[in-house]
Amino acid sequence: MSTAKISVRGLKKSFGSNEVLKGMDVDIAEGEVVCVIGPSGSGKSTFLRCLNKLEDITGGTVTVNGIDLTEPKVDLNAVRQNIGMVFQHFNLFPHMSVLQNIMLAPVELKKLDKAAARAKGMELLKRVGLSEKADARPASLSGGQKQRVAIARALAMNPGIMLFDEATSALDPEMVGEVLQVIRDLAAEGMTMVVVTHEMGFAREVADRVIFMDAGVICEEGSPEAIFSNAAQPRLQEFLAKVL
Ligand code: ADP
Ligand code: MG
Repeated sequence: MSTAKISVRGLKKSFGSNEVLKGMDVDIAEGEVVCVIGPSGSGKSTFLRCLNKLEDITGGTVTVNGIDLTEPKVDLNAVRQNIGMVFQHFNLFPHMSVLQNIMLAPVELKKLDKAAARAKGMELLKRVGLSEKADARPASLSGGQKQRVAIARALAMNPGIMLFDEATSALDPEMVGEVLQVIRDLAAEGMTMVVVTHEMGFAREVADRVIFMDAGVICEEGSPEAIFSNAAQPRLQEFLAKVL
């Protein structure tokens, strides 16, 4: 029995006849920060979405906290409550205040009473530096502020795992740093995270391990040093030459 928090074996995913993930094996330990890099279309988002079964899995297994998500009887809602996900686009509810956005899932899904959810929401807003925005509507926030609210909303469920899919790529450059800082803080607190990113400097600094995906396979993986300073695979060298 593996002790990994996330264990992926022979993961395959096809959309129709298009095989997008061609057999991936990964173990992610508790508290580990894994950054996933690779060209557009290489399957990074699909991989991330398989980790909480937002995609049907074509082959192989994904085991999270010892639960095999490909088992037909698995309680996916329970699994997903433990996995926070943050996307490129924030998907905040526009008709709700910032605080209401954060309180929604704990109240609806965990049946937390509103006072406790509010207190937790305010604590999280403080953590992401947005206490003064509790009553604001999402539309009045900058992109970086919206993304920080989206992270706070994900954290409101007390997830054991956080998944980030290009969380900064829709942001204006001056807002990237404030969002990366929140992710960096989570890493320092020991959150288990899988971070798909095109911020190579960030990956180098924060990752315990970097995975380079190309055409649906893990082409190379290793320490940031190994990936960014000692790339072995020509495909990785070529990718880094374009993005660095
Ligand atoms: P990345 O995140 O690395 O850019 P994706 O995982 O988004 O790559 O996409 C990998 C491939 O899977 C692409 O060829 C894309 O067109 C295809 N794909 C992704 N999602 C779907 C979908 N819902 N239906 C059909 N094809 C998809
Ligand atoms: Mg993607």
